[in-house]
Amino acid sequence: MSGKNVTDMVLANAAGIAKAARILESGGLVAVPTETVYGLAARADSAEAVARIYAAKGRPDFNPLIVHVRDVAQAERYGIFAPEARALADAHWPGPLTLVVPACTDAGLADAVSAGLATIALRAPAHPVMRALLSAVDFPLAAPSANRSGFISPTSAAHVIASLGGRIDLVLDGGVTTAGVESTIVAVRADGSLEELRPGPLQIAAPGKGGHIEAPGQLASHYAPGKPLRLNAMTAANNEFLIGFGAVQGDCTLSASGDVNEAAAKLYACLHEAANAPQPRIAVATVPMEGVGRAINDRLRRAAA
Ligand code: AMP
Ligand code: MG
Repeated sequence: MSGKNVTDMVLANAAGIAKAARILESGGLVAVPTETVYGLAARADSAEAVARIYAAKGRPDFNPLIVHVRDVAQAERYGIFAPEARALADAHWPGPLTLVVPACTDAGLADAVSAGLATIALRAPAHPVMRALLSAVDFPLAAPSANRSGFISPTSAAHVIASLGGRIDLVLDGGVTTAGVESTIVAVRADGSLEELRPGPLQIAAPGKGGHIEAPGQLASHYAPGKPLRLNAMTAANNEFLIGFGAVQGDCTLSASGDVNEAAAKLYACLHEAANAPQPRIAVATVPMEGVGRAINDRLRRAAA
């Protein structure tokens, strides 16, 4: 059912969620708000539906998807939870934490979800709309960010339409997302040790050592605004759109009071504004590495690459 030229947008009320559930049941694609960014959901147990995600996004097939579930009980049908993984899920779900754990074999999910890896990425999101949707269907939802591959992530329904309009079936409009940056991804190894694969809203494990690309969100270039981006700017040159922070006031300011959480929530909206501005270049003020500031700097570095 995807591949049609018009993407419907409906409010994420009970009727909208029921409509979304019917589309997902028949293998379609629905963009849905989570507390981090908008996700592009399809039923994770259908190879055809999952293939549509990759096609709509233009996503390389080696980049696996996060599978969204209601709770730990549902997650344990698809992944093997060591005590350490179980403790993290109990402490942080529902929430912006993705756990990469060994995959159950023959769990009935599309192979493409894990892109051939022996692990699976699982998350129980906290956003009420996503939770209502997960309760309305009897399968888990594969859902990467609802944007064309490699470009800026969406934090509003309008961002989704601008990137994927005409390529997906429905957008559930649930307003602007609040955490702003994608979930923290933590891998739980066989020996119970933890490795952070992607920084995000939650600070949990030590960053991975890198060297191998295990989460392609780690690719050097990602979140690209389509023009050169300069980091650690104090002022803007004539041809630059300035994204400010704290004392550096910009054309768009992440947080005038220097609050990294506010900055995370506004990051992608500012990058979208900068991408659409007349200036051919973007400059961004320094954001401190404290708390979610690590995730902001991670995304800005990739946007600049
Ligand atoms: P996105 O949904 O667009 O934020 O991207 C999902 C992220 O999860 C990507 O960085 C993937 O590489 C990562 N991911 C999904 N499954 C796995 C897995 N089994 N192992 C490692 N990373 C994963
Ligand atoms: Mg993404």
